[in-house]
Amino acid sequence: MPNAWKLLIIDDCATDRKIYRRFLLKDPHHYYQIMEADSAEVGLGLCQNIPCDLILLDFCLPDMSGIEFLDQLRQKTFGSSVPVIMLTGRGDQEIAVQAMKRGVQDYLVKQHLKPDVLQLAVRNVIKQLCLQTQLQKTQERQRLIATMLLRIRQSLDLEEILYTAVREVQQLLKCDRIIVCQSSPEADSEQTGQNNSLLCYWAGSDDCNLNPLELLDSQENLIVPITLSDQQIVSKPWGFLIAHHCTEKREWQSDELEIMCEVSVQLAIAIQQAELLTQTQVALEKEKQLNAFKSQIITTISHEYRTPLASILAAASTLKQHGDHLEELKKHKFLHIIEQKARHMSKLIDDMLVMNQFELNKTKFKTIPLDLEQFFSSLISEQQQLVSDRHEFIFHSTGSNKGFCGDQGLLRLIFSNLMSNAIKYSPKGGNVEFHLIGKESEVIFFIQDQGIGIPIEEQSNLFQPFCRASNVDTLPGTGLGLAITKACVELHGGNISLDSQPNQGTKVTVCLPKQHIQKSSH
Ligand code: ATP
Ligand code: MG
Repeated sequence: MPNAWKLLIIDDCATDRKIYRRFLLKDPHHYYQIMEADSAEVGLGLCQNIPCDLILLDFCLPDMSGIEFLDQLRQKTFGSSVPVIMLTGRGDQEIAVQAMKRGVQDYLVKQHLKPDVLQLAVRNVIKQLCLQTQLQKTQERQRLIATMLLRIRQSLDLEEILYTAVREVQQLLKCDRIIVCQSSPEADSEQTGQNNSLLCYWAGSDDCNLNPLELLDSQENLIVPITLSDQQIVSKPWGFLIAHHCTEKREWQSDELEIMCEVSVQLAIAIQQAELLTQTQVALEKEKQLNAFKSQIITTISHEYRTPLASILAAASTLKQHGDHLEELKKHKFLHIIEQKARHMSKLIDDMLVMNQFELNKTKFKTIPLDLEQFFSSLISEQQQLVSDRHEFIFHSTGSNKGFCGDQGLLRLIFSNLMSNAIKYSPKGGNVEFHLIGKESEVIFFIQDQGIGIPIEEQSNLFQPFCRASNVDTLPGTGLGLAITKACVELHGGNISLDSQPNQGTKVTVCLPKQHIQKSSH
């Protein structure tokens, strides 16, 4: 049986009321629950206490005219618009027009009233009422959706956007939970084939016993994909918007699906905007770093070049003016100064260019299989010939380095920077040990000296470009070596650490995976 409509018949004539009741109960299309009142007063009282869907109103009541009744009805029910069908006598069309102007839906002439006429009139008014209610509901929903979308779009912070969205949609649909699931980007890019790692944002009941992996399979859920599209209009799946209801059975309505689709489209736009903002911020930050680096380069060059250039100029002009009269030994000394200072300046330029390549992510990285033991022992022999005999080199190799692949140029940079530090910062000489340890999937090497060491509190900063410790005194350097070394190590997928005690020496340890697949970042 369809829901009964509540009707109120207000007529002082009992016979008429009976007739209307009989006509209406015969309606094959609708079922009515009928109340009766024999005066306007009683009718108004009923309206106030029991809400009804329609009033059949006799225009001529003993205690009040139909027009007066309508005015009082609006007053007493605080303007609520219960539809009214007026019943008039023959020739009362003038009055009926007035009543229609006051909001009466229809009027019928009592004398001609037939069952089907009354039934049709009542059905039409009720149909109109249903459409109006639906229209109001749709307008209200549209208003809520617009407010919700505005709130979603007000933020550029992705987490905030997603939490706002789930909260607002959950309130709108009044379901147990709304969930936004982001399919894990890693699962996608690494092509692991498992697309089951989901990042979820949700709002609603804590009681739902939901397993994230079952979210997408459950029949109870209303699921809408969230798809991003870039400027080339290529679609990229991002995740899902899911409505879940388990406290009772729920048939999802088509307008609810429409809301979910609309929200999903708006979410995709908001997500893209937030992602764009993050990318811009990262680029801006990078740009700032580059600018800082460039100005540091200018400062360093002007500072570091002044002294050696002055020495070169002085030596060169002495040679030019007095070269003919100088002893061979002195001439040689000046030429040595020029050569040494020029070499120093050239290294500085090389280091800065290398560092700049790293900052711009443009360093070339090409790995080949390498026998590390052989590689390092030949580098150590090269070093040995360059330094004075105050330093003693010790080389230890244990384990197997089989299967190691690395970039020769970058490994040479790592070695030469660490080795030159070990020598430079142990001016009194001593042992410089190089240990190479081969493990199953990685190699570890460390260089240990017995030099000046590094103050503990300054150790963590020294991998930053241009950072030097306070105890270097007059030992030359620009503070680029460790930054370059760290960047080279990281390109190999490894890590570097430092262990040092002032005046007791320094140990720098490098761990590198034997094989490293570089992620392309540029
Ligand atoms: P360069 O760019 O010419 O290498 P640098 O040696 O000063 O200059 P880094 O190699 O980056 O620069 O080293 C940074 C700082 O770390 C050094 O200035 C020094 O203070 C400290 N340091 C590095 N290695 C050692 C070491 N083995 N013993 C003591 N201090 C060290
Ligand atoms: Mg150095």
